[in-house]
Amino acid sequence: MRNETSILHALPHDPLTGAVSVPIYQTSTFEQEAPGVNRGFDYSRTNNPTRQAFEHLLAELEGGTHGIAFSSGLAAVDAVLKLLSAGDEIVAVDDIYGGTYRALHTIYDRLGISVRHVDTSSPGLVLEAMTPRTRLVWLETPTNPTLKISDIRAIASIAKAEGALLLVDNTFCSPVAQQPLALGADIVLHSITKYIAGHSDVIGGGVVVKDAELAQRIKYIQNATGAVLGPQDSWLAIRGAQTLHLRYERISRSAQEVARYLVGHPDVGGVNYPGLRTHPGHLVAKAQLSRQQREVMAAGGDGAFGGVISFWLKDDREEAAVEFVDHTKLITLAESLGGVKSLVCVPCRMTHASVPREVRRAAGIRDSLVRLSIGLEHPEDLIGDLEGAFAALRGETIRSTVIS
Ligand SMILES: *Cc1c(COP(=O)(O)O)cnc(C)c1O
Repeated sequence: MRNETSILHALPHDPLTGAVSVPIYQTSTFEQEAPGVNRGFDYSRTNNPTRQAFEHLLAELEGGTHGIAFSSGLAAVDAVLKLLSAGDEIVAVDDIYGGTYRALHTIYDRLGISVRHVDTSSPGLVLEAMTPRTRLVWLETPTNPTLKISDIRAIASIAKAEGALLLVDNTFCSPVAQQPLALGADIVLHSITKYIAGHSDVIGGGVVVKDAELAQRIKYIQNATGAVLGPQDSWLAIRGAQTLHLRYERISRSAQEVARYLVGHPDVGGVNYPGLRTHPGHLVAKAQLSRQQREVMAAGGDGAFGGVISFWLKDDREEAAVEFVDHTKLITLAESLGGVKSLVCVPCRMTHASVPREVRRAAGIRDSLVRLSIGLEHPEDLIGDLEGAFAALRGETIRSTVIS
C-alpha cells in the first residue's frame, strides 16, 4: 500500500463511538482500576491517546517504528541532545537551522558537549571531523537557506563505522520526498510546525526512530523533562498530516515552475533549488527521493523537491532584497515555511541577522538573498506577484496581475 493511503487508515476509528476523527482527549490524568493498574494511560505527560495517535501517524509517515511528539521542533532537538554527556562531540552541517545552532552554541557547549561544523555536502569532510568522542552526526538536507544537499547513505555508513548515530532533520523535505531511516539514518527529526501540520497554525516537533531501545531512551528523556505536544495540537497535527502528500506534491510542482521562472529572469543573479538540473546537489537529491517520487520522475514528472527556493538579485545589495519583498502583495513577508500560504523572507535581515556578514557570505548567503516558501496558491498568481515586485524594483508601475 502507498504511504498516502496507509496514513489515512493508520488510525482506528474510536472504539467507543465509531467517530472517524480521533477524539481530542483533553485530560491530564486517567482513572486507575487499582494503584498502578491502568488502561495504558496514567498521566498525559507520559502518554495521551490523541498524542499517541499522532505519534503513530508520524512513525508511519517516516517508515519508522516509533514516533515521539514534542511541544516544538526545538524541544525535539533538545531531547535528542540530552542523549549525550559532557565530553561527547557532534559533527554537524555548517548551515544548520539557526535555533539548533543557538541551542548547541549557547547551552550545550556550556554543558561540555562540543560541535564541529562541516560542509556535509562533501562526505569526506564528515569523516575527517570524526573523533573517537563523536557520538552524533547532525544533517539537514536540503539546508536553509542555500539548499545544499548531503548524501545521507554515504554519511550513514561513515557514522556507523565510527560508532556514532546519524540524525537527519527532515523538516525541509518531508517524508513525502525523503525517508532518511530507509537511507541508513538512526533518528529523523521534524519541526511539525512546517509541512506536516502545514497550515501555519501550530508549533510542534517530532522524532522518529526504528530501534525500540533508542525510542525508549528518548521517550524517557521526554517524560523526565516534560516537553510534550498537547492534545489539541496533536489533533491539528493529525489533521494536517492527512493531506501532507497532496499539499507537498502540489507545492513542489508550483515551486519547480517558480524556480524556472526565476532562472530566466533578467534581474535574478542566481537560484538555489534542488529540483533544477543545474543545482550541484540535484543528482544526490534525486537519488535519495522516496520510491514514489522516483517513480513520478521516471514517468517524466518533476518529483517533489519541496517548496523552499532561494535566489539573489543581480543588484546584490541587502537594500534591494528589502525593497523587493516590500513589493510582493500575495506572498507574505514572514519567517517560517511549509504552510498553505506562500511566504518570503530576507535571511540577512531576518533568520540569519545574528550571523556575521563574512560567515554568511562564506556559507553562500548573499546580501540580496531572498527565500521563498511556496504555498498552495496557483503558480501563475505567484509568478504574477513576483513579476510585479521586479517591476517595482526597476521603478516601473506594478502591473497588477494578481489582485484585481
Ligand atoms: C523550524 C525548524 C526547526 C525548529 O522548529 P520549531 O517548531 O520552530 O521549534 C528545526 N529545524 C528546522 C530545519 C526548522 O525549519
